[in-house]
Amino acid sequence: VSAATDDRFALVSGVVHHVAGSCSFLQSTPEAASNSGLVVGDDALLVVDTRLTPELGRNLRDYVRGEYGQRVGRLLVVNTHFHGDHWFGNQAFQDATIFSSTWTRQKLASEWAAQVDLFASIRPHQAAEFGAVQPALPNIGVRGEVEIELGGAMAKLVPMGPAHTPGDVVVLAEQDTVAYCGDIVFNSHWPVLWDADVAGWRAALQELLGRDLRVVIPGHGPAGGPELLEQMLRCLDFLEVLAEADESTWESAIVASEFRGWLHRRRVAPSVATVRAQQGVAATSSSREPSDDGEEC
Ligand SMILES: [Zn+2]
Repeated sequence: VSAATDDRFALVSGVVHHVAGSCSFLQSTPEAASNSGLVVGDDALLVVDTRLTPELGRNLRDYVRGEYGQRVGRLLVVNTHFHGDHWFGNQAFQDATIFSSTWTRQKLASEWAAQVDLFASIRPHQAAEFGAVQPALPNIGVRGEVEIELGGAMAKLVPMGPAHTPGDVVVLAEQDTVAYCGDIVFNSHWPVLWDADVAGWRAALQELLGRDLRVVIPGHGPAGGPELLEQMLRCLDFLEVLAEADESTWESAIVASEFRGWLHRRRVAPSVATVRAQQGVAATSSSREPSDDGEEC
């Protein structure tokens, strides 16, 4: 590999890892926040999430064009969910067909600007970059599973919300052995539960554990295998333990836990608040309906 090649395809704030067959993923640095995926066929290339800012999206687009442009004519994009760090780069892919769940597509049509404002408030040092976001939003919403033929490679879009958000989509590839999980899986980063349905999130993780996955790609942090799904379940368990405990005990519990080194500790308090609110809702509804045997059928 020549230095010139490295310059031409230089990615900013991330590294691309080839994980299997048609599948790669871009692991972003913590500053760049969110990961992206690439499923490469002979005729089309599917990009999973377009990074945190328009600039990072352009950089990803340049990488894709430089690396695959000679042989892949058509670009497709999937936005796994509506959080801005997964679609603010969309405007670099305006010539692509952009998919999401129907829920996410409808949510963004009315509330994309609210995501810009939210990210400008939580990442004020990047407010100018978020101010450059244009609403290049999903063109096509999917409801059930959709298989897309890319030419010698398939990708399957699987709506799995409500989980991290009401409209999550997981992308499966390589005969359903590789899963681009979006923010249904965080690794080494504390999860965000602002828009979560905790019970639905657990159900989504269990559903994925029932599949024969070999590679699990999180929305944030390094990839791994199915153990990342189990780790995420344990993380939700741990947040429920904190929800039962007094806040004064949290720090010692975190230090004693497997999550002690995870980034963005400030997310713990609002996440626990979400868990507490939903535990309250669950308790209320079960007291109203004491006999729910057979509900799982
Ligand atoms: Zn998210």
